[in-house]
Amino acid sequence: MNMHSSVCTLTSVSLTPRFRPVTPRCNQQNSCAVRESLVPTTLKEMEDNPVAEPIVKQSEMTRLERIQRQRALDKLSLPQFEAMCQAQGVPDLCRSATKTLQLNIGLYCNQACTHCHVESSPKRTEMMDHATAEACVRLMRSSPGILSVDITGGAPELNDQFRYLVTQARCLGLEVIDRCNLTVLLEPGQEDLPAFLAANKVQVVASLPCYGPTNVDKQRGAGVFDRSIEALKMLNALGYGCSGSEGLQLNLVYNPGGAFLAPAQAALEAAYREELRGLYGIEFNHLYCLNNMPIKRFADSLVRQGQMEQYMQLLVNSFNPQAGPGLMCRDTVSVGWDGRLYDCDFNQQLDMSLTDVSGLSTISTAIFESDRRISQRQTATEVTEIVPGIPNTTNEEDLGPNSNLLKSIHRSQAVPDQTKSLTVFDIASLAELEGRRIRSDNHCYGCMAGSGSSCTGAAVAS
Ligand code: SF4
Ligand code: SF4
Repeated sequence: MNMHSSVCTLTSVSLTPRFRPVTPRCNQQNSCAVRESLVPTTLKEMEDNPVAEPIVKQSEMTRLERIQRQRALDKLSLPQFEAMCQAQGVPDLCRSATKTLQLNIGLYCNQACTHCHVESSPKRTEMMDHATAEACVRLMRSSPGILSVDITGGAPELNDQFRYLVTQARCLGLEVIDRCNLTVLLEPGQEDLPAFLAANKVQVVASLPCYGPTNVDKQRGAGVFDRSIEALKMLNALGYGCSGSEGLQLNLVYNPGGAFLAPAQAALEAAYREELRGLYGIEFNHLYCLNNMPIKRFADSLVRQGQMEQYMQLLVNSFNPQAGPGLMCRDTVSVGWDGRLYDCDFNQQLDMSLTDVSGLSTISTAIFESDRRISQRQTATEVTEIVPGIPNTTNEEDLGPNSNLLKSIHRSQAVPDQTKSLTVFDIASLAELEGRRIRSDNHCYGCMAGSGSSCTGAAVAS
């Protein structure tokens, strides 16, 4: 039997209202303190800290960020991402069969972390509705290659659709991952969330950028570390991360606290285990090390601190072609809160959606493909001259070193931007996306730097 075609019979889906009144739930003074919502603290911090809020509206910020990254590369005479991939022998940036369906079901969050690439906060109101969630479930059923459903946000658990999606995916036999900020487990109204996750054998992937309070609170907000430790203890008490509790996976995520790369994953995992076990008696399965992507709130902080060029230089200098085959965009489809489809969550935040090229005329499609090939040849030629030691992988002598790189890049992106974004309502199966070219740009250097970076940590063993 095709496990994805089975009909889900689970009907007792508990839907959690997104906003619940913040009311004390017990009489014990100490435990009540930690049960109060984090939202008022987060909002107060956002008032005091302008980095937490975009200074211009989202679309304008995205455009400015692209220009800033581009300027940083131009100023340093560094190559474009796609050209670097070609010159370094990275396999073609094309989609393979989709194995993971990643759902970003909303941008509302009880935190407003300084590095957040989706710029979530309690002020965001964008949330996936039920019709879109249903369309996602339909795709789970019709796409037999899917192995896991990765649910993220925002704080995804605070969306009404979270428990519906979890139970439907589990009924179809799929692995479910909850990208959990931990503090949400202590939010009023979420008292039954840990038990719900355990009952459905949901893998919890939780951010904890340090095993000490200072760095965590600096990056994620006042009081977040204490609440995170409390939440981890709650999960351990249910068997998460503990030996003998097969199926209850608890994985932690580290990301750097500034403009530097994640260290070696295996060594840091050992340090985390020793510290968390020794200091708090906390157990977990694995630590995923992620690089900070030069987009959104982190890009904003880089620009404010005059570090964008330095960070882009670091990413380019740390380019690791071995990370190329494992790029998560090859086998993951990312769905936005409004149902639009993307190669990854980062592209989602940059409005680089998958586009419907079927509506283009034959001539337009031919021009688009021709432009792309020319762009690739030009950039591959130029990168060999910019980066010493990289062998010339093309024989395109006719394409001179002074070709207008930026113009070609813009041309290669112009046609898809004018076409309609694909959504979950437009396709019958995720298999339709196989073979498509991945929409890359210079932020992608973040995924190829050092040991590589993906939603499951380093792409290359370190
Ligand atoms: S990084 Fe995660 S927890 Fe922090 S604001 Fe963004 S979505 Fe929320
Ligand atoms: S940022 Fe670029 S390289 Fe990284 S997953 Fe997305 S499309 Fe792929």
